[in-house]
Amino acid sequence: MTHTIKVIGGGLAGCEAAWQLAQRGLRVELVEQKPIARTPAQVTDALCELVCSNSFRGAALSNAVGLLKEELRRGGSLVMSCADASAVPAGGALAVDRERFSAEITARIDAHPNITRASAVVTELPDGPAIVATGPLTGDALASALAALVGAEHLAYYDAISPVIAAESINWERVFRASRYDKGGDDAYVNCPLTRDEYAAFVREVVAAKKVEPREFEETRYFEGCLPIEVMAERGADTLRYGPMKPVGLTDPRTGRWPFACVQLRQEDAAASAYNIVGFQTRMTFGEQARVIRMIPGLEAAEFMRFGSVHRNTFVNSPRMLTQALELRAKPGLFLAGQITGVEGYLESAACGFTCAVLLAQRLAQQAFDPPPATTALGALLRHLWTVRKDFQPSNVTWAMVAPMDELPAKKLAKAEKYELFAARALADIAPWIARNAHAR
Ligand SMILES: Cc1cc2nc3c(=O)[nH]c(=O)nc-3n(C[C@H](O)[C@H](O)[C@H](O)COP(=O)(O)OP(=O)(O)OC[C@H]3O[C@@H](n4cnc5c(N)ncnc54)[C@H](O)[C@@H]3O)c2cc1C
Repeated sequence: MTHTIKVIGGGLAGCEAAWQLAQRGLRVELVEQKPIARTPAQVTDALCELVCSNSFRGAALSNAVGLLKEELRRGGSLVMSCADASAVPAGGALAVDRERFSAEITARIDAHPNITRASAVVTELPDGPAIVATGPLTGDALASALAALVGAEHLAYYDAISPVIAAESINWERVFRASRYDKGGDDAYVNCPLTRDEYAAFVREVVAAKKVEPREFEETRYFEGCLPIEVMAERGADTLRYGPMKPVGLTDPRTGRWPFACVQLRQEDAAASAYNIVGFQTRMTFGEQARVIRMIPGLEAAEFMRFGSVHRNTFVNSPRMLTQALELRAKPGLFLAGQITGVEGYLESAACGFTCAVLLAQRLAQQAFDPPPATTALGALLRHLWTVRKDFQPSNVTWAMVAPMDELPAKKLAKAEKYELFAARALADIAPWIARNAHAR
Protein backbone atom coordinates (compact mmCIF):
# COMPACT_ATOMS: atom_id res chain seq x y z
CA MET A 1 0.00 0.00 0.00
CA THR A 2 1.31 3.43 -0.84
CA HIS A 3 -1.05 5.56 1.25
CA THR A 4 -0.06 7.14 4.53
CA ILE A 5 -3.27 7.67 6.47
CA LYS A 6 -3.43 10.65 8.77
CA VAL A 7 -5.23 10.04 12.04
CA ILE A 8 -5.87 13.26 13.95
CA GLY A 9 -6.29 12.84 17.72
CA GLY A 10 -4.44 10.42 19.98
CA GLY A 11 -7.39 9.57 22.22
CA LEU A 12 -9.42 6.38 22.55
CA ALA A 13 -10.75 6.44 18.98
CA GLY A 14 -7.62 7.74 17.26
CA CYS A 15 -5.22 5.28 18.90
CA GLU A 16 -7.53 2.33 18.23
CA ALA A 17 -8.03 3.39 14.61
CA ALA A 18 -4.30 3.95 14.05
CA TRP A 19 -3.52 0.53 15.50
CA GLN A 20 -6.13 -1.30 13.41
CA LEU A 21 -4.94 0.36 10.20
CA ALA A 22 -1.31 -0.35 11.03
CA GLN A 23 -2.10 -3.98 11.85
CA ARG A 24 -3.60 -4.27 8.37
CA GLY A 25 -0.32 -3.24 6.81
CA LEU A 26 -1.23 0.42 6.24
CA ARG A 27 1.11 3.28 7.12
CA VAL A 28 -0.28 5.75 9.62
CA GLU A 29 0.71 9.20 10.83
CA LEU A 30 -0.91 9.84 14.20
CA VAL A 31 -1.16 13.57 14.90
CA GLU A 32 -1.86 14.64 18.50
CA GLN A 33 -1.83 18.20 19.84
CA LYS A 34 -0.17 17.21 23.12
CA PRO A 35 2.35 18.26 24.39
CA ILE A 36 1.87 21.56 22.51
CA ALA A 37 -1.71 22.01 23.74
CA ARG A 38 -4.27 20.21 25.90
CA THR A 39 -8.06 20.27 26.07
CA PRO A 40 -9.44 21.85 29.28
CA ALA A 41 -10.18 18.37 30.70
CA GLN A 42 -6.68 16.93 30.17
CA VAL A 43 -3.91 16.96 32.76
CA THR A 44 -1.20 14.75 31.20
CA ASP A 45 0.69 14.51 27.92
CA ALA A 46 0.04 10.78 27.46
CA LEU A 47 -1.95 9.20 24.66
CA CYS A 48 -5.42 7.87 25.47
CA GLU A 49 -5.86 9.93 28.59
CA LEU A 50 -8.97 8.99 30.59
CA VAL A 51 -10.17 12.44 31.58
CA CYS A 52 -12.54 11.43 34.35
CA SER A 53 -13.46 8.01 35.72
CA ASN A 54 -11.01 5.11 35.38
CA SER A 55 -13.88 2.71 34.67
CA PHE A 56 -14.72 1.04 31.39
CA ARG A 57 -18.04 0.02 32.99
CA GLY A 58 -19.76 -3.37 33.26
CA ALA A 59 -17.87 -6.53 32.39
CA ALA A 60 -20.70 -9.08 32.24
CA LEU A 61 -21.95 -10.23 28.86
CA SER A 62 -25.51 -9.52 29.99
CA ASN A 63 -24.50 -5.87 29.81
CA ALA A 64 -24.37 -4.21 26.34
CA VAL A 65 -21.04 -2.54 27.13
CA GLY A 66 -19.70 -5.89 28.42
CA LEU A 67 -20.56 -7.42 25.06
CA LEU A 68 -18.90 -4.52 23.25
CA LYS A 69 -15.70 -5.20 25.20
CA GLU A 70 -15.73 -8.88 24.31
CA GLU A 71 -16.30 -8.20 20.62
CA LEU A 72 -13.40 -5.73 20.65
CA ARG A 73 -11.16 -8.25 22.41
CA ARG A 74 -11.96 -10.84 19.79
CA GLY A 75 -11.23 -8.31 17.05
CA GLY A 76 -7.74 -7.60 18.43
CA SER A 77 -8.45 -4.20 19.96
CA LEU A 78 -5.48 -2.23 21.28
CA VAL A 79 -7.59 -0.42 23.86
CA MET A 80 -9.05 -3.64 25.27
CA SER A 81 -5.69 -5.37 25.34
CA CYS A 82 -4.11 -2.47 27.26
CA ALA A 83 -7.17 -2.14 29.53
CA ASP A 84 -6.98 -5.84 30.45
CA ALA A 85 -3.24 -5.49 31.04
CA SER A 86 -3.74 -2.58 33.44
CA ALA A 87 -6.98 -3.71 35.15
CA VAL A 88 -7.54 -3.00 38.84
CA PRO A 89 -10.15 -4.73 41.05
CA ALA A 90 -13.60 -3.20 40.41
CA GLY A 91 -16.24 -5.82 41.19
CA GLY A 92 -18.43 -6.42 38.15
CA ALA A 93 -16.80 -3.63 36.15
CA LEU A 94 -13.53 -3.26 34.26
CA ALA A 95 -11.48 -0.42 35.71
CA VAL A 96 -7.89 0.41 34.95
CA ASP A 97 -4.85 2.02 36.46
CA ARG A 98 -5.08 5.07 34.21
CA GLU A 99 -1.35 5.84 34.12
CA ARG A 100 -0.42 2.27 33.27
CA PHE A 101 -3.17 2.14 30.67
CA SER A 102 -1.95 5.28 28.90
CA ALA A 103 1.69 4.22 29.20
CA GLU A 104 0.89 0.81 27.71
CA ILE A 105 -0.97 2.36 24.78
CA THR A 106 1.81 4.86 24.15
CA ALA A 107 4.50 2.16 24.23
CA ARG A 108 2.65 -0.10 21.82
CA ILE A 109 1.85 2.72 19.40
CA ASP A 110 5.44 3.95 19.47
CA ALA A 111 6.79 0.43 18.88
CA HIS A 112 4.60 -0.24 15.85
CA PRO A 113 6.66 -0.09 12.66
CA ASN A 114 3.74 1.26 10.59
CA ILE A 115 2.91 4.19 12.88
CA THR A 116 4.73 7.50 13.08
CA ARG A 117 3.72 10.22 15.48
CA ALA A 118 3.55 13.99 15.05
CA SER A 119 2.69 16.77 17.49
CA ALA A 120 0.58 19.57 16.03
CA VAL A 121 -2.58 21.47 16.77
CA VAL A 122 -4.53 20.74 13.61
CA THR A 123 -6.65 23.68 12.52
CA GLU A 124 -7.84 22.55 9.10
CA LEU A 125 -9.49 19.43 7.83
CA PRO A 126 -6.89 17.23 6.13
CA ASP A 127 -7.33 15.67 2.70
CA GLY A 128 -7.99 11.95 2.72
CA PRO A 129 -7.35 9.26 3.35
CA ALA A 130 -7.62 10.52 6.91
CA ILE A 131 -9.58 10.10 10.12
CA VAL A 132 -10.47 12.97 12.46
CA ALA A 133 -10.88 11.71 16.03
CA THR A 134 -10.41 14.85 18.08
CA GLY A 135 -13.10 14.10 20.63
CA PRO A 136 -15.71 15.98 22.65
CA LEU A 137 -13.43 18.98 23.26
CA THR A 138 -12.16 19.47 19.71
CA GLY A 139 -10.36 22.81 19.49
CA ASP A 140 -12.23 25.86 18.19
CA ALA A 141 -10.33 26.27 14.91
CA LEU A 142 -10.81 22.67 13.79
CA ALA A 143 -14.43 22.69 14.98
CA SER A 144 -15.03 25.88 12.95
CA ALA A 145 -13.55 24.22 9.87
CA LEU A 146 -15.90 21.28 10.40
CA ALA A 147 -18.87 23.59 10.97
CA ALA A 148 -18.04 25.46 7.75
CA LEU A 149 -18.03 22.15 5.87
CA VAL A 150 -21.19 20.56 7.31
CA GLY A 151 -23.13 23.73 8.19
CA ALA A 152 -23.25 25.20 11.70
CA GLU A 153 -26.65 23.59 12.37
CA HIS A 154 -25.08 20.13 11.97
CA LEU A 155 -22.30 20.58 14.53
CA ALA A 156 -23.29 20.68 18.21
CA TYR A 157 -21.16 21.96 21.11
CA TYR A 158 -23.33 20.47 23.85
CA ASP A 159 -25.23 17.25 24.12
CA ALA A 160 -28.65 17.22 25.78
CA ILE A 161 -29.52 13.64 26.60
CA SER A 162 -32.87 12.52 27.97
CA PRO A 163 -33.20 9.32 30.01
CA VAL A 164 -34.30 6.13 28.26
CA ILE A 165 -36.63 3.74 30.09
CA ALA A 166 -37.14 0.01 29.46
CA ALA A 167 -40.64 -0.55 28.04
CA GLU A 168 -41.28 -3.51 30.32
CA SER A 169 -40.76 -1.32 33.39
CA ILE A 170 -43.52 1.16 32.45
CA ASN A 171 -46.82 0.76 34.29
CA TRP A 172 -49.04 0.58 31.21
CA GLU A 173 -52.20 0.83 33.36
CA ARG A 174 -51.39 4.42 34.32
CA VAL A 175 -50.34 5.88 30.98
CA PHE A 176 -52.18 6.48 27.71
CA ARG A 177 -51.20 6.66 24.07
CA ALA A 178 -52.03 9.86 22.16
CA SER A 179 -50.36 12.65 20.27
CA ARG A 180 -51.29 16.28 20.71
CA TYR A 181 -54.70 16.99 19.16
CA ASP A 182 -54.47 13.50 17.62
CA LYS A 183 -51.88 14.73 15.14
CA GLY A 184 -49.36 12.08 14.09
CA GLY A 185 -51.40 9.01 14.95
CA ASP A 186 -52.87 7.79 18.19
CA ASP A 187 -49.93 5.85 19.39
CA ALA A 188 -47.10 8.24 18.54
CA TYR A 189 -46.52 9.10 22.21
CA VAL A 190 -47.03 7.46 25.56
CA ASN A 191 -48.33 10.01 28.08
CA CYS A 192 -47.91 10.03 31.83
CA PRO A 193 -50.60 12.35 33.30
CA LEU A 194 -49.92 14.31 36.50
CA THR A 195 -52.42 15.95 38.84
CA ARG A 196 -51.78 19.43 40.25
CA ASP A 197 -50.36 17.95 43.48
CA GLU A 198 -48.21 15.38 41.68
CA TYR A 199 -46.83 18.12 39.42
CA ALA A 200 -46.05 20.45 42.34
CA ALA A 201 -44.25 17.68 44.23
CA PHE A 202 -42.29 16.71 41.11
CA VAL A 203 -41.14 20.28 40.39
CA ARG A 204 -40.11 20.69 44.05
CA GLU A 205 -37.94 17.57 43.92
CA VAL A 206 -36.39 18.48 40.55
CA VAL A 207 -35.27 21.79 42.06
CA ALA A 208 -34.01 20.15 45.27
CA ALA A 209 -32.22 17.21 43.60
CA LYS A 210 -28.45 16.97 43.62
CA LYS A 211 -26.95 17.95 40.24
CA VAL A 212 -23.67 17.13 38.54
CA GLU A 213 -21.67 20.36 38.78
CA PRO A 214 -20.60 21.79 35.41
CA ARG A 215 -16.83 21.90 34.80
CA GLU A 216 -15.52 25.45 34.59
CA PHE A 217 -15.31 25.32 30.78
CA GLU A 218 -18.91 24.18 30.55
CA GLU A 219 -20.81 26.99 32.16
CA THR A 220 -23.78 28.99 30.97
CA ARG A 221 -23.94 28.18 27.28
CA TYR A 222 -27.17 26.19 27.26
CA PHE A 223 -29.36 26.55 24.22
CA GLU A 224 -32.84 27.84 25.02
CA GLY A 225 -34.27 25.06 22.88
CA CYS A 226 -32.83 22.27 25.02
CA LEU A 227 -32.53 23.54 28.58
CA PRO A 228 -32.07 20.98 31.35
CA ILE A 229 -35.39 20.38 33.16
CA GLU A 230 -33.98 21.72 36.43
CA VAL A 231 -33.09 25.03 34.77
CA MET A 232 -36.69 25.29 33.58
CA ALA A 233 -38.04 24.26 36.99
CA GLU A 234 -35.96 26.95 38.67
CA ARG A 235 -37.44 29.61 36.40
CA GLY A 236 -40.90 29.17 37.89
CA ALA A 237 -43.52 26.69 39.05
CA ASP A 238 -45.30 26.64 35.68
CA THR A 239 -42.32 26.72 33.32
CA LEU A 240 -42.19 22.94 32.81
CA ARG A 241 -45.96 22.87 32.31
CA TYR A 242 -45.52 25.28 29.41
CA GLY A 243 -42.52 23.34 28.15
CA PRO A 244 -41.92 19.59 27.90
CA MET A 245 -44.73 18.81 30.38
CA LYS A 246 -47.36 20.74 28.42
CA PRO A 247 -50.69 18.87 28.63
CA VAL A 248 -52.61 20.70 25.89
CA GLY A 249 -54.22 18.56 23.22
CA LEU A 250 -53.66 15.36 25.21
CA THR A 251 -57.03 13.97 26.18
CA ASP A 252 -56.79 11.27 28.83
CA PRO A 253 -59.33 8.60 27.75
CA ARG A 254 -60.05 7.77 31.39
CA THR A 255 -61.16 11.31 32.31
CA GLY A 256 -62.03 12.76 28.90
CA ARG A 257 -59.93 15.81 29.88
CA TRP A 258 -56.43 17.15 29.52
CA PRO A 259 -54.36 16.41 32.62
CA PHE A 260 -52.80 19.21 34.69
CA ALA A 261 -49.36 18.31 33.31
CA CYS A 262 -48.05 15.46 31.22
CA VAL A 263 -44.74 13.73 30.60
CA GLN A 264 -44.38 12.29 27.12
CA LEU A 265 -42.42 9.18 26.14
CA ARG A 266 -41.28 8.53 22.60
CA GLN A 267 -40.40 5.11 21.23
CA GLU A 268 -36.63 4.69 21.06
CA ASP A 269 -36.16 1.57 18.94
CA ALA A 270 -37.98 -0.34 16.22
CA ALA A 271 -38.80 -3.19 18.61
CA ALA A 272 -40.41 -0.74 21.11
CA SER A 273 -38.29 -2.16 23.91
CA ALA A 274 -37.34 1.31 25.16
CA TYR A 275 -38.79 4.83 25.39
CA ASN A 276 -37.07 8.18 25.88
CA ILE A 277 -38.59 10.92 28.01
CA VAL A 278 -39.18 13.78 25.63
CA GLY A 279 -37.30 17.00 26.48
CA PHE A 280 -36.00 15.66 29.81
CA GLN A 281 -32.28 16.40 29.42
CA THR A 282 -30.94 16.85 32.93
CA ARG A 283 -27.85 17.26 35.06
CA MET A 284 -29.41 15.53 38.07
CA THR A 285 -27.06 12.82 39.35
CA PHE A 286 -27.98 9.32 38.22
CA GLY A 287 -29.25 8.39 41.71
CA GLU A 288 -31.42 11.49 41.86
CA GLN A 289 -32.77 10.89 38.36
CA ALA A 290 -33.93 7.46 39.42
CA ARG A 291 -35.57 8.86 42.56
CA VAL A 292 -37.24 11.89 40.98
CA ILE A 293 -38.34 10.33 37.69
CA ARG A 294 -39.95 7.44 39.55
CA MET A 295 -42.32 10.05 41.02
CA ILE A 296 -43.96 10.32 37.59
CA PRO A 297 -47.18 8.29 37.39
CA GLY A 298 -46.51 5.21 35.27
CA LEU A 299 -42.75 5.36 35.87
CA GLU A 300 -42.78 4.25 39.52
CA ALA A 301 -40.65 1.21 38.67
CA ALA A 302 -38.74 2.79 35.77
CA GLU A 303 -35.66 0.90 34.78
CA PHE A 304 -33.10 3.17 33.15
CA MET A 305 -31.43 1.96 29.98
CA ARG A 306 -29.65 5.31 29.79
CA PHE A 307 -29.58 8.24 32.19
CA GLY A 308 -29.94 11.84 31.07
CA SER A 309 -27.02 14.26 30.89
CA VAL A 310 -25.81 17.58 29.54
CA HIS A 311 -22.11 18.09 28.72
CA ARG A 312 -19.84 20.14 26.58
CA ASN A 313 -19.52 17.84 23.59
CA THR A 314 -18.59 18.59 20.00
CA PHE A 315 -20.35 16.22 17.64
CA VAL A 316 -21.72 16.21 14.12
CA ASN A 317 -25.16 15.17 13.01
CA SER A 318 -23.70 11.90 11.73
CA PRO A 319 -26.84 10.35 10.24
CA ARG A 320 -27.11 13.30 7.88
CA MET A 321 -23.48 14.31 7.42
CA LEU A 322 -21.65 10.96 7.20
CA THR A 323 -21.99 7.98 4.93
CA GLN A 324 -22.59 4.59 6.52
CA ALA A 325 -18.81 4.11 6.38
CA LEU A 326 -18.36 7.24 8.61
CA GLU A 327 -16.97 9.29 5.72
CA LEU A 328 -17.94 12.95 5.44
CA ARG A 329 -20.37 13.27 2.54
CA ALA A 330 -19.00 16.75 1.84
CA LYS A 331 -15.36 15.64 1.81
CA PRO A 332 -14.87 12.12 0.47
CA GLY A 333 -11.81 10.37 1.86
CA LEU A 334 -12.13 12.09 5.26
CA PHE A 335 -13.63 9.89 7.97
CA LEU A 336 -14.72 10.73 11.53
CA ALA A 337 -14.35 8.47 14.57
CA GLY A 338 -15.01 8.57 18.30
CA GLN A 339 -17.12 10.92 20.31
CA ILE A 340 -17.21 13.52 17.53
CA THR A 341 -19.54 11.17 15.60
CA GLY A 342 -22.13 10.96 18.39
CA VAL A 343 -21.08 7.90 20.32
CA GLU A 344 -20.61 8.47 24.05
CA GLY A 345 -18.02 6.99 26.40
CA TYR A 346 -14.48 5.63 26.43
CA LEU A 347 -15.40 2.16 25.17
CA GLU A 348 -17.84 3.36 22.54
CA SER A 349 -15.25 5.83 21.23
CA ALA A 350 -12.63 3.10 20.97
CA ALA A 351 -15.21 0.85 19.27
CA CYS A 352 -16.03 3.59 16.79
CA GLY A 353 -12.31 4.01 16.02
CA PHE A 354 -12.05 0.26 15.50
CA THR A 355 -15.01 0.08 13.10
CA CYS A 356 -13.99 3.22 11.23
CA ALA A 357 -10.51 1.78 10.61
CA VAL A 358 -11.93 -1.52 9.35
CA LEU A 359 -14.32 0.28 7.00
CA LEU A 360 -11.53 2.54 5.73
CA ALA A 361 -9.26 -0.48 5.21
CA GLN A 362 -12.04 -2.15 3.21
CA ARG A 363 -12.28 0.94 1.04
CA LEU A 364 -8.55 1.17 0.41
CA ALA A 365 -8.44 -2.53 -0.46
CA GLN A 366 -11.37 -1.91 -2.85
CA GLN A 367 -13.50 -4.45 -1.00
CA ALA A 368 -17.27 -4.17 -0.80
CA PHE A 369 -18.68 -2.23 2.18
CA ASP A 370 -19.09 -4.83 4.93
CA PRO A 371 -20.27 -3.36 8.29
CA PRO A 372 -20.45 -5.41 11.49
CA PRO A 373 -23.82 -7.22 11.77
CA ALA A 374 -26.81 -5.44 13.35
CA THR A 375 -27.03 -8.22 15.95
CA THR A 376 -23.65 -7.25 17.46
CA ALA A 377 -22.79 -4.39 19.79
CA LEU A 378 -20.28 -3.01 17.26
CA GLY A 379 -22.93 -3.12 14.54
CA ALA A 380 -25.59 -1.63 16.79
CA LEU A 381 -23.40 1.33 17.74
CA LEU A 382 -22.64 2.00 14.08
CA ARG A 383 -26.34 1.92 13.26
CA HIS A 384 -26.99 4.54 15.95
CA LEU A 385 -24.91 6.81 13.70
CA TRP A 386 -27.03 5.93 10.67
CA THR A 387 -30.45 6.56 12.19
CA VAL A 388 -31.82 9.96 11.15
CA ARG A 389 -33.70 11.63 14.01
CA LYS A 390 -35.16 15.05 14.54
CA ASP A 391 -32.84 15.56 17.47
CA PHE A 392 -29.78 13.35 17.02
CA GLN A 393 -27.93 13.01 20.35
CA PRO A 394 -24.86 11.04 21.45
CA SER A 395 -25.41 7.69 23.12
CA ASN A 396 -23.67 4.91 24.97
CA VAL A 397 -24.26 1.44 23.59
CA THR A 398 -27.58 0.01 24.87
CA TRP A 399 -29.51 -3.17 24.24
CA ALA A 400 -32.24 -1.08 22.64
CA MET A 401 -29.86 -0.50 19.69
CA VAL A 402 -29.22 -4.19 19.08
CA ALA A 403 -31.44 -5.95 16.52
CA PRO A 404 -34.32 -7.74 18.29
CA MET A 405 -34.44 -11.52 18.42
CA ASP A 406 -37.10 -13.17 16.29
CA GLU A 407 -37.50 -16.09 18.61
CA LEU A 408 -37.03 -16.06 22.34
CA PRO A 409 -37.86 -19.10 24.48
CA ALA A 410 -41.56 -19.26 25.40
CA LYS A 411 -40.89 -19.11 29.16
CA LYS A 412 -40.37 -15.62 30.61
CA LEU A 413 -36.66 -15.05 31.04
CA ALA A 414 -34.90 -13.03 33.69
CA LYS A 415 -33.34 -9.92 32.15
CA ALA A 416 -29.79 -11.23 32.49
CA GLU A 417 -30.74 -14.54 30.87
CA LYS A 418 -32.38 -12.76 27.96
CA TYR A 419 -29.35 -10.57 27.32
CA GLU A 420 -26.99 -13.52 27.61
CA LEU A 421 -28.89 -15.00 24.65
CA PHE A 422 -28.40 -11.73 22.76
CA ALA A 423 -24.70 -11.83 23.61
CA ALA A 424 -24.30 -15.45 22.48
CA ARG A 425 -25.93 -14.58 19.16
CA ALA A 426 -23.70 -11.51 18.78
CA LEU A 427 -20.49 -13.42 19.46
CA ALA A 428 -21.49 -16.09 16.95
CA ASP A 429 -22.26 -13.39 14.35
CA ILE A 430 -19.18 -11.25 14.92
CA ALA A 431 -16.75 -14.15 14.43
CA PRO A 432 -17.09 -14.47 10.63
CA TRP A 433 -17.05 -10.68 10.25
CA ILE A 434 -13.81 -10.48 12.22
CA ALA A 435 -12.37 -13.33 10.15
CA ARG A 436 -13.28 -11.58 6.88
CA ASN A 437 -11.70 -8.36 8.11
CA ALA A 438 -8.73 -9.86 9.91
CA HIS A 439 -5.33 -8.29 10.25
CA ALA A 440 -3.05 -8.50 7.26
CA ARG A 441 -0.09 -9.23 9.56
C1 LIG B 1 -15.05 16.35 31.17
C2 LIG B 1 -15.33 15.02 30.56
C3 LIG B 1 -15.51 13.90 31.37
C4 LIG B 1 -15.77 12.64 30.80
N1 LIG B 1 -15.91 11.55 31.62
C5 LIG B 1 -16.09 10.32 31.08
C6 LIG B 1 -16.16 9.16 31.89
O1 LIG B 1 -16.04 9.23 33.11
N2 LIG B 1 -16.36 7.96 31.29
C7 LIG B 1 -16.47 7.84 29.94
O2 LIG B 1 -16.64 6.70 29.44
N3 LIG B 1 -16.39 8.92 29.15
C8 LIG B 1 -16.20 10.16 29.68
N4 LIG B 1 -16.14 11.26 28.88
C9 LIG B 1 -16.25 11.09 27.48
C10 LIG B 1 -14.85 10.67 27.00
O3 LIG B 1 -13.98 11.75 27.08
C11 LIG B 1 -14.90 10.22 25.65
O4 LIG B 1 -15.87 9.20 25.53
C12 LIG B 1 -13.63 9.67 25.05
O5 LIG B 1 -12.46 10.17 25.62
C13 LIG B 1 -13.73 10.09 23.62
O6 LIG B 1 -12.73 9.49 22.91
P1 LIG B 1 -12.21 10.24 21.60
O7 LIG B 1 -11.07 9.46 21.11
O8 LIG B 1 -13.33 10.51 20.70
O9 LIG B 1 -11.72 11.67 22.14
P2 LIG B 1 -10.55 11.96 23.19
O10 LIG B 1 -10.26 10.81 24.05
O11 LIG B 1 -10.89 13.28 23.81
O12 LIG B 1 -9.28 12.16 22.26
C14 LIG B 1 -9.18 13.23 21.37
C15 LIG B 1 -7.72 13.58 21.23
O13 LIG B 1 -7.59 14.54 20.18
C16 LIG B 1 -6.70 15.55 20.59
N5 LIG B 1 -7.05 16.77 19.86
C17 LIG B 1 -8.15 17.53 20.04
N6 LIG B 1 -8.14 18.55 19.15
C18 LIG B 1 -7.02 18.43 18.42
C19 LIG B 1 -6.45 19.18 17.35
N7 LIG B 1 -7.04 20.27 16.88
N8 LIG B 1 -5.26 18.77 16.81
C20 LIG B 1 -4.64 17.65 17.28
N9 LIG B 1 -5.13 16.91 18.30
C21 LIG B 1 -6.30 17.29 18.85
C22 LIG B 1 -6.90 15.66 22.08
O14 LIG B 1 -5.75 16.21 22.71
C23 LIG B 1 -7.16 14.22 22.48
O15 LIG B 1 -5.98 13.55 22.87
C24 LIG B 1 -15.87 12.52 29.41
C25 LIG B 1 -15.69 13.65 28.60
C26 LIG B 1 -15.42 14.88 29.16
C27 LIG B 1 -15.23 16.06 28.26
